[in-house]
Amino acid sequence: MNGLMAADSRLNVDIIRNPRVSTYPFADYFRGFEKVGAVRRIFKERTEEVLGTLKVEFMSRRGYMGVSDEDGHLIVSAYYLRNGRLIDIYLDVIHELVHVRQFLEGSKLFDEDYDYVDRPTEVEAYRYAVEEAHRLGLGNEEILEYLRTEWMSEEDLRRLARTLHMKIGSPGE
Ligand SMILES: [Zn+2]
Repeated sequence: MNGLMAADSRLNVDIIRNPRVSTYPFADYFRGFEKVGAVRRIFKERTEEVLGTLKVEFMSRRGYMGVSDEDGHLIVSAYYLRNGRLIDIYLDVIHELVHVRQFLEGSKLFDEDYDYVDRPTEVEAYRYAVEEAHRLGLGNEEILEYLRTEWMSEEDLRRLARTLHMKIGSPGE
């Protein structure tokens, strides 16, 4: 028996290793999304079925939102839901719903072979969010502002914007 296994066998505790997160029906907190054209384009005839069974989990950590790569449920920072701008939250939901569909199709959501801004799953999700932002009348600068996050470098932002066929000025413009 090696040292680590010996140490394990000396532990006098029992840790239940199948945690259950507490989740809520998506529709309890996000209403009317099944009527949004962009959402219907994401799920097509499965829109009601998917949104009707989707779960949302609220986390206490700061952050925005994401999709679990274990079971495809939506994870939202409670702080962000309380304090974020409504339009940002709305566009993020559109973005994440694309990931929900990708998960259901069996796509790898966090493919580390790609940089974040080049990852096909991210590009598709951003494309839906940006199209929706255009439809709602947001200007180019406002959309860039929406895309800008503290963990994306200015260079990555410009690369993403180019991929999404957005107008981008040179630095300083
Ligand atoms: Zn994403």
